[in-house]
Amino acid sequence: PRDTVDVLVVGSGGAGFSAAVSAFDNGAKVMLIEKEPVIGGNAKLAAGGMNAAETKQQAAKGIKDSIELMTKDTMKGGRNINDPALVKVLVEHSAGSIDWMTGMGADLSDVGRMGGASVNRTHRPTGGAGVGAHVVQVLYDNAVKRNIDMRMNTRGVEVLKDASGKVKGMLVKGKYTGYYWVKADAIVLATGGFGKNNDRVAKLDPKLKGFKATNQPGATGDGLDVAGEAGADMVDLKYIQAHPTLSIKGGVMVTEAVRGNGAILVNREGKRFVNEITTRDKAAAAILQQTGKTAFLIFDDSVRKSLKKIEKYIGLGVVPANASAVELGNSQGINGEELKKSIARYNEFVAAGKDADFERPQLPRALNEGQYYAIEVGPGVHHTMGGVKIDNKSEVLDTKGKVIPGLYGAGEVTGGVHGANRLGGNAISDIVTFGRLAGEEAAKYSKQ
Ligand code: ADP
Repeated sequence: PRDTVDVLVVGSGGAGFSAAVSAFDNGAKVMLIEKEPVIGGNAKLAAGGMNAAETKQQAAKGIKDSIELMTKDTMKGGRNINDPALVKVLVEHSAGSIDWMTGMGADLSDVGRMGGASVNRTHRPTGGAGVGAHVVQVLYDNAVKRNIDMRMNTRGVEVLKDASGKVKGMLVKGKYTGYYWVKADAIVLATGGFGKNNDRVAKLDPKLKGFKATNQPGATGDGLDVAGEAGADMVDLKYIQAHPTLSIKGGVMVTEAVRGNGAILVNREGKRFVNEITTRDKAAAAILQQTGKTAFLIFDDSVRKSLKKIEKYIGLGVVPANASAVELGNSQGINGEELKKSIARYNEFVAAGKDADFERPQLPRALNEGQYYAIEVGPGVHHTMGGVKIDNKSEVLDTKGKVIPGLYGAGEVTGGVHGANRLGGNAISDIVTFGRLAGEEAAKYSKQ
């Protein structure tokens, strides 16, 4: 071998960095490899937040949440096919993971709400700045502080095992160095999903053929092939999530928090058609039923002021604005008169505290301040729920249900945590919690 470590982490998203830092803190010599030239994976693009229940941040705001409620919401969102043992880990460790991140310097003090949640539990930086970039930055800084060996442009190609089937290392390929092998007692696969690989996506779910994706270019799923060759079992691969609001003009994902903070969705007829903060699968399906298979996010200056992220969309030039709802609508191919009526009707619901049309459970503010804004949106592939089968210690299981000794998986490369549909805010929670767990377990295992 060219290098010898205790724990090799494959992938530099939130799961990989969490695993690397936690393995180090549990006494392991760690290396982290990333096939792309830059760190962060899809995790860096995550805009929503980090879901957690029974946190100090919630308590400070008087929000009543519970392990039971977050479990129920997560299972319901996943259409109850989630692996309950993994959901238990996700939920019960969620508050601890918030503490772990804040202990390392993260700001997760703002608590908002995303689709499918019964209460506010999406923790994010003050002002609603992108949570993923923040979390990845904090983890990266902590990896640097620990002097962890991090190698970009380095792909994990094959898990190597000894005669008894235990992991003994990995064949890797450096862009500039070629193939070499790294001796390691344990490997954490944190290679993310395959949303950017439309061939793979369309084979599993033909409805999604030709869909754009919100993912980074490295989200091709080669980690799944590596795991498969090592004997890993796969679960729920056919469940692929389309994020409902990809900006049609900008090609960027518009965070669910825009709706969570008060935006409504209308069709070309100027009418609302769905509870805007329903789960992603339902919102995406509802948009595809509208004329032209797209819809418009509509909001005002009060929503704009509540969420920093909106300035980025405005900066991209994809957010037409007008003081008059009628003119805004007509200029965008929406029936302006109807749009005006829909906004007025929605504002009455806000005042009454009840959405009589679509039973939207949360009505944060009326839309009547300053200008109106519109963003044309439609579904894009966002998250792949399925993947490598793991147990509640993040150990990878083979097709007979047996642990592959020394192989761990965490984050989007795994399946089972989110069932058929992932709730917004549960990905960051997943990658921090399972990444941290996998790192800890891998470190312990390497010491045996
Ligand atoms: P998660 O959210 O689960 O942490 P991300 O998508 O954020 O997943 O990160 C996964 C990272 O793994 C991406 O940066 C991706 O480029 C990288 N990656 C994928 N396959 C490999 C591989 N075979 N070797 C090294 N890195 C990989």
